Amino acid sequence: MVVYEGKAVFEGVAIGKLSVYKKNEETVKREKVDDVDAEIARYAEAREAAVEQLQALYEKAVKEVGEASAEIFEAHQMMVEDEDFIEAAESIIQSQSVNAEYAVAETGDNFKKMFEEMEDEYFRGRAADIKDISERIIRILQGNGNAGIESDEPSIIVADDLAPSETVQMDKDKILSFVTVHGSANSHTSILAKTMNIPAIIGCSIPLTDEVNGKQAIVDGFEGKVYVDPEPEVLEAKKKILAAELEKKELLEQLKGKENVTLDGQKINLYANIGNTKDLGLVLKNDAGGIGLFRSEFIYLGSEDYPTEDEQFAIYKQVAETLAGKKVIIRTLDIGADKQADYFKLPAEENPALGLRAIRICLTRPEIFKTQLRAILRASAYGKISIMFPMIISVDEVLKIKEILAEVKAELDGEGIPYDKEIETGIMIETPASVMMAEELAKEVDFFSIGTNDLTQYTLAIDRQNQSLDEFYDSHHPAILKMLKIVVDSAHKYGKWAGICGELGADLSLTKEFLAMGFDELSVSPGRILPLRKIVRETDVSRYKAEK
Ligand code: PEP
Ligand code: MG
Repeated sequence: MVVYEGKAVFEGVAIGKLSVYKKNEETVKREKVDDVDAEIARYAEAREAAVEQLQALYEKAVKEVGEASAEIFEAHQMMVEDEDFIEAAESIIQSQSVNAEYAVAETGDNFKKMFEEMEDEYFRGRAADIKDISERIIRILQGNGNAGIESDEPSIIVADDLAPSETVQMDKDKILSFVTVHGSANSHTSILAKTMNIPAIIGCSIPLTDEVNGKQAIVDGFEGKVYVDPEPEVLEAKKKILAAELEKKELLEQLKGKENVTLDGQKINLYANIGNTKDLGLVLKNDAGGIGLFRSEFIYLGSEDYPTEDEQFAIYKQVAETLAGKKVIIRTLDIGADKQADYFKLPAEENPALGLRAIRICLTRPEIFKTQLRAILRASAYGKISIMFPMIISVDEVLKIKEILAEVKAELDGEGIPYDKEIETGIMIETPASVMMAEELAKEVDFFSIGTNDLTQYTLAIDRQNQSLDEFYDSHHPAILKMLKIVVDSAHKYGKWAGICGELGADLSLTKEFLAMGFDELSVSPGRILPLRKIVRETDVSRYKAEK
């Protein structure tokens, strides 16, 4: 067994034969031509054919992987028609009286180098696209048309690098995974691989020789490893992971795009919890209806100093735009207790969980709070954002928050900065005090989201961080379940919605109960959305209530 390591760009496990992908690399010869004009015309015809091919590829990709991922082929069409590229190639034909194939190959190489040397990682990633379009034009000039990809049995494709047009032309049913020696995580190849749900590894030093070709292998996209000729026990272990993955995938495939509706017609929103923008792929992959909890404190925890308004704005805007109009609930800073950032210089506390944390910090240090609110409000012009405040214990706090929010809005108005004037605001219910005050609080906010992790800790007087108390930390405690019902009823009484964003929301043994209680939303880690959807769709709420 030989193990090769690389960078995993999409998780999953694939087991099968390796198939070394050799490019259709016809060598381009430099040939003198007599009729330079005819050569330039030949180049123009080849460009036209390339644009047609790319249009067909675009249409194929739209169907298979969606509009956003297909855009690369529109970009390629533009590259084929790029004035600078055309001028450079025509000038080679003219000045050296040479064939179009040679001129395009030279120009492609020059442009590729130019992109590779650029500072910006995005542009460096485009070097592969330049190579891709020049090879396409050369193939057409050589009369090779649209090179296909052979693959008789489903296999793991191993290549030096894969151009986006190559991956999209591949017959997906015959590909278990792909592994490339080169390629960047930002390249469209990686992006397409993710959209296609194929485990993929890049930057892997696997040799592209006939010796490797046809060998049995395992690609582990969790570890970023390729096992060639795996030992039996490794194979067994990976098969188990693969079986579990396949089961999940099946579930995923069947339920994607379906409504979260019970047998008797009750609907519920299933949203995702995220900690940073890296989780966005999972949100989309798991078909979440929105983001029910963006734990914004991770932005602060990942910084050496207070993140600026612009830094935060860029992140919130990216999340809002990626979700494309679906709801994104950003929870304001919930630092303190178990989440500490040195630069906050918070005082040492006897009982940090009962100390200066979350909204208490925001209300005592409004400059930090205002910076975040400005960033969130500015980003609200780019999607559908809601703001949620953590650790609330009183109506008074909510009124203070509203005052500060109004000040920030007035500042933005004064500066002519756009934001969503109707932005929804809600609070987390995670203290017993907020449960007791739920009716009064419901009059002041648009929604409640229950943080059962903290609510359990504060209700049962059990430190959620203390492992030795795990046996006492009973989140199914009747006191908690009673509280959930009080909260949802209080919200509904005043026409507001209520959800759960603590871990209990993903507890499948309680899904029916949550539906019976009338929850409007459950926000869970992305991987739990589809298992939850399955239960929702199998539940008859009225029957469940009658049988209880
Ligand atoms: C909770 O307390 O349930 C919650 C969702 O917030 P966190 O886990 O981030 O404290
Ligand atoms: Mg909490």
